[in-house]
Amino acid sequence: MSSSSSNWSAAQSSSYRIPRQRMVERLRDHYRIRDARVLEAMAEVPRHLFVPEALQGRSYGDHALPIDANQTISQPYIVARMTELLEADKSSRVLEIGAGSGYQTAVLARVAGQVYAIERIGDLARQAQARIRSLGIYNATVKCFDGTMGWSAHAPYDGILVAAGGPRVPDPLLAQLKVGGRLVLPVGESRESQRLVRVIRTEEGFQHEEHGACAFVPLIGRHGWNES
Ligand code: SAH
Repeated sequence: MSSSSSNWSAAQSSSYRIPRQRMVERLRDHYRIRDARVLEAMAEVPRHLFVPEALQGRSYGDHALPIDANQTISQPYIVARMTELLEADKSSRVLEIGAGSGYQTAVLARVAGQVYAIERIGDLARQAQARIRSLGIYNATVKCFDGTMGWSAHAPYDGILVAAGGPRVPDPLLAQLKVGGRLVLPVGESRESQRLVRVIRTEEGFQHEEHGACAFVPLIGRHGWNES
């Protein structure tokens, strides 16, 4: 733990400290993110290291940004909100689908015990894993395959977070959720827009909640959209 915390403080004291602090204030004061662990994680993870170099100056702004392979790094608010809805703590095992840049993975690794992340594009998965290791994060693993099937080897999960929008809730993800576990994902009838949904598994079944409109890149796979 000591080597990883020294890495973190090095990253923290380096560039973009003030924009990162402003981002956290906006999450707390404007977007009403309440969970202190989520705010702390977002204050620590160096978001500028997860975007293309030419866009680093905009990495703490209130928006999504393009990354490689036509994908996006989610808006900070969406990352914070989804992480908050997941209600993970250091005893939680979490599955993430759509690791992309690895930024959300790094935030999850700060609040959860163990993170298993899936990304369908090989180059992104490799880059995300390399970034995470170079930041000294050892409780997160990124692998490349179709995340709509879940990752049964490590199931069941306390939390599952999907960062791409599909037409329905993938059945394998429901099956891999613990009783009491939370699944947070965007669901929409079109590829362009979705509603943020949280599914909580109870002893009796699944309880669905809606948490507002959102716009993610499409979830492509067996239980998502077809590759067009
Ligand atoms: N949390 C990421 C968001 C990346 S965008 C970040 O903040 O950087 C969503 C990602 O989901 C894309 O990289 C896309 O390739 C990936 N994706 C889409 N369908 C997928 C699937 N079936 N399995 C795994 N990843 C998928």
